[in-house]
Amino acid sequence: MKFGIVGLVAIVGAYFLGIDPRLVMGLLGGGGGPVQSEAPIAPSTPTDEAGQFVQHVLGDTEDTWSAIFAEHGDQYPAAKLRLFSEGINTGCGSATSAAGPFYCPADNYVYIDLSFFRQLETEFAAQGDFAKAYVIAHEVGHHIQTITGISDRVRAAQQRASQAEQNALQVRMELQADCYAGIWAHHADRARQLVESGDIDEALTAASAVGDDTIQKRVQGQVNQESFTHGSGAQRQEWFRKGLSSGRVQDCNTFD
Ligand SMILES: [Zn+2]
Repeated sequence: MKFGIVGLVAIVGAYFLGIDPRLVMGLLGGGGGPVQSEAPIAPSTPTDEAGQFVQHVLGDTEDTWSAIFAEHGDQYPAAKLRLFSEGINTGCGSATSAAGPFYCPADNYVYIDLSFFRQLETEFAAQGDFAKAYVIAHEVGHHIQTITGISDRVRAAQQRASQAEQNALQVRMELQADCYAGIWAHHADRARQLVESGDIDEALTAASAVGDDTIQKRVQGQVNQESFTHGSGAQRQEWFRKGLSSGRVQDCNTFD
């Protein structure tokens, strides 16, 4: 909660200037990296406090997106949640905890190993519930991209694009998911007054600390032609803030 702009800048700098690439790999990929949690928490189910928190946030994203879809006369097919420990088989292949949280478009599940949240705190100093909530809302953002057909269109465009263009498209996908996470924060605050002072800093810290899904695909053994792709820390914050301030999907067109 007390996380200020100084810490944020430090993390963004370390992460995006490539000071210690092992740290990046350790967070979301590579398996067995130096930042692997030494004392992983016990396997959690939604009956645990942490599991319940994740479930709660996911439910809150459901409220938000259901309302937005309803405005357009549509029903929101909610993302599902699976907590796991160590490894899991998914509709997108098998994954280990090293993948970090991810969304699988093939089965519409958000997969989270709760030990990741501890990593978020210890390795990246992204403290607080709102940092965790941002991570979940970002993954749900990928769910939105999937059910609205954006993911398919981007994947199709990537297939006939150069490596550099593929990377650029991937970054735009990530930034849009950040913007969608901002939309959730906007509505959660409006409707349910969830956002306290300091929360946004927590989210922005996490936004910078959490890598995109590129590494996760690699860990899952899926085809990954992209190199490591993120928006810059500034870009990720910018798009989260955009979603946060407007709350409107049309303001999240990162492909423009
Ligand atoms: Zn992502």
